[in-house]
Amino acid sequence: MSAATPNVAASVSLSQSAAAQSLRATGARVTGARIAILSLLTKANRALSHREVEQALETAHIDRVTVYRVLDWLTSEGLAHKIADDQRIFRFSAVGRQGDAHAHFKCRVCSNVFCLPSGTAPRLKLPAGFQGDEVELTVKGVCAQCAA
Ligand SMILES: [Zn+2]
Ligand SMILES: [Zn+2]
Repeated sequence: MSAATPNVAASVSLSQSAAAQSLRATGARVTGARIAILSLLTKANRALSHREVEQALETAHIDRVTVYRVLDWLTSEGLAHKIADDQRIFRFSAVGRQGDAHAHFKCRVCSNVFCLPSGTAPRLKLPAGFQGDEVELTVKGVCAQCAA
């Protein structure tokens, strides 16, 4: 498996430089913590809670307060979005691949939350005079990995 190692390293640094590029586009200061957290969210195949981000970056010595602050900042800049589940746990996911109008999926076996591809959120017909600007839809069930 030694041949696979450089590829993994290359994809990590690629996602880090892509993260740095998105951060620079906001015009804000590009910090190590912002790069690390955004690239972690981008690489993850599911939404991550504060705690999961904290644990994943423990070795990078990014403290809890910084994790909270950076996740909120990424959300306010539109680089990440926040998903609240029925237990009021917030999870974060990078914005990009799915687009704005997508549904989420919560697995009742592993409790992971996934962003579904764009187009999965239905268009609701609202009564006259109502202007919706956000739809939160979470499908609950068993994810592909747990069902296998
Ligand atoms: Zn699952
Ligand atoms: Zn999402």
